[in-house]
Amino acid sequence: MSKSNLLDYLNDPSPRTLGRSPLEWLDRLHRPTVIHVAGRDRSRTRAMATLLHGNEPSGLFALHRWLLEQHTPRVNMLFLLGGVYPAKRPPTLSYRQLPNGRDLNRCFQKPFKGIEGAIAEALLAELHKAQPECLLDVHNTSGTGPAFAVTITNDAAHQALASLFTDRLIMTDLRLGALMEYSEQEVPTITIECGGSQDEQAHQLAYEGLVRYTSKPDVLSLDNADWNVAVLRNPIRVELASDATIEYRMEPSGQADLTFPPDIERRNFGTVSPDEPLGWVGQKDLGMLTAIGHNRTENMEKVLKIKNGKIYPVQAIKLFMITTNPIIAKSDCLFYAVKETGEPIF
Ligand SMILES: [Zn+2]
Repeated sequence: MSKSNLLDYLNDPSPRTLGRSPLEWLDRLHRPTVIHVAGRDRSRTRAMATLLHGNEPSGLFALHRWLLEQHTPRVNMLFLLGGVYPAKRPPTLSYRQLPNGRDLNRCFQKPFKGIEGAIAEALLAELHKAQPECLLDVHNTSGTGPAFAVTITNDAAHQALASLFTDRLIMTDLRLGALMEYSEQEVPTITIECGGSQDEQAHQLAYEGLVRYTSKPDVLSLDNADWNVAVLRNPIRVELASDATIEYRMEPSGQADLTFPPDIERRNFGTVSPDEPLGWVGQKDLGMLTAIGHNRTENMEKVLKIKNGKIYPVQAIKLFMITTNPIIAKSDCLFYAVKETGEPIF
């Protein structure tokens, strides 16, 4: 079996190899690492990637705990730890990618440029070799909030995979070069966002989902799912202009372009009706906000409106990934939204 010189390999690692804590284990990892664990049924394999982003540790924590417990999985397991370099860079688990490096989860497409592109290509080669029956890619969200899954294909197999972790599945037509998109050509793949990287609950969910994923005889049939999955299709992004100011207060101070209440995160995945204000705008009105659809069209008229300085949804919407972290709100996006029914707003 040919092995990549970019990756390290662990086969059925013993507790001695793993160290007592995930951080001790990370200390012992030197390169992106491929882990094989033999299952009871050796004719099948399931795969899980995690730590593609070095500051999203729930999958690493879950995997460390699961490996220490020395389970024998139902089928062979293939684990891929991608972003070992950014994860190890001090302060540990704080870099999504290396400074001046590329986001590894945008590199799973040709021409596989640079070190991140080479790592992505090597990880895909491992998947191709193992021919798993399915693949999970486990992440954390930037802010806090409930877990959800992301897919580019909405069918029973993908819903069943999502149901191992969460009851919310976001389906997107947007293509970014994520692992999910490339591997989908060969095998059902979903991304799991476990919740915030600092949330004990997110680590616990990653572990419980991993136990289900490795122990169930069948993870691709909805008949065996523990709960129903709500599908949210092609959410739009609401972005804040990079020069805009945002504050989180119970009342606007009059100084900021946008004010959200400090408890805005409780809105995540709830329905907001057109008579419920979300926050306040300053003098620039809605001018510093943009609503962008998956096909890159813009249409704020269908999403938000202003009445007496307050922001209201134009129609009942479900929003998510709303955060009280102003850096994330400005660098990534303010929030995502779909219609109350889960259908795209435009
Ligand atoms: Zn991530």
